[in-house]
Amino acid sequence: PIPAVRMAAVYKYYGEFRALTNVNMVVSPGERVVVCGPSGSGKSTLIRCINHIEKRDDGMISVNGTDLNGTRANIAKVRSLTGMVFQGFNLFPHMTILENCVLAPMSSLGLGRPEAEARAMAYLEKVRIAEQAHKYPIQLSGGQQQRVAIARSLCMEPEIMLFDEPTSALDPEMVKEVLETMETLAKDGMTMICVTHEIGFARQVADRVVFMDRGEIIEEAPPAEFFDRP
Ligand code: ADP
Ligand code: ADP
Repeated sequence: PIPAVRMAAVYKYYGEFRALTNVNMVVSPGERVVVCGPSGSGKSTLIRCINHIEKRDDGMISVNGTDLNGTRANIAKVRSLTGMVFQGFNLFPHMTILENCVLAPMSSLGLGRPEAEARAMAYLEKVRIAEQAHKYPIQLSGGQQQRVAIARSLCMEPEIMLFDEPTSALDPEMVKEVLETMETLAKDGMTMICVTHEIGFARQVADRVVFMDRGEIIEEAPPAEFFDRP
């Protein structure tokens, strides 16, 4: 099958500083990859290159067979294939939860309001937040807001979900509910690449752990092998 993500000999610089060095990674459809490593090792940069929030300087990246070659059409295609969830929830504060979720499906996919709302409610149901659909972000807890951010991404029906430390801005008691939502997605067979320090999640959900240091992938292994070695 065509890889969900393929990175070959990818390099990324910020000015003189090399943030990614010869990154090679193939993610199969349905695979769950957890990326870990020390702060500043390039995890966020790696994930941001996949949906072209950051542009790689050298090497090749393809998503579902679409080459991120810099053409607008291909960038748009890759963006539509990938959903991304950040540390901050980035919901629009002046819009209700439902409005936040229907915005992109209406403007980018051209769905009519009834269809967009039906879709949004289905995904809000999935993340168990449908009852709050008419509230504003500020009325929800951080964990609930992050679940909304996940639902909002799902409303674009991406093939691959990218998570960049989705729980690190949350109070400890809210981490679990967000990880449970991510586990639900994993059970549905979603292809996922997650930057996270949550070892319990990695153990339970990851097919593979990728360990980065100073911009390089220095190790890849199944979680059991990775975390349980003497
Ligand atoms: P991680 O996610 O592993 O913490 P990042 O990918 O965020 O690492 O950052 C890798 C390195 O690149 C860090 O040293 C960081 O300071 C640097 N970096 C990240 N983004 C930028 C940027 N926009 N400009 C300059 N340096 C950056
Ligand atoms: P994260 O922990 O999610 O990787 P950071 O706090 O490292 O986020 O970075 C937040 C933002 O600042 C990112 O957009 C990143 O690209 C940028 N950034 C990080 N390090 C630098 C740096 N040394 N110079 C400029 N921008 C940076």
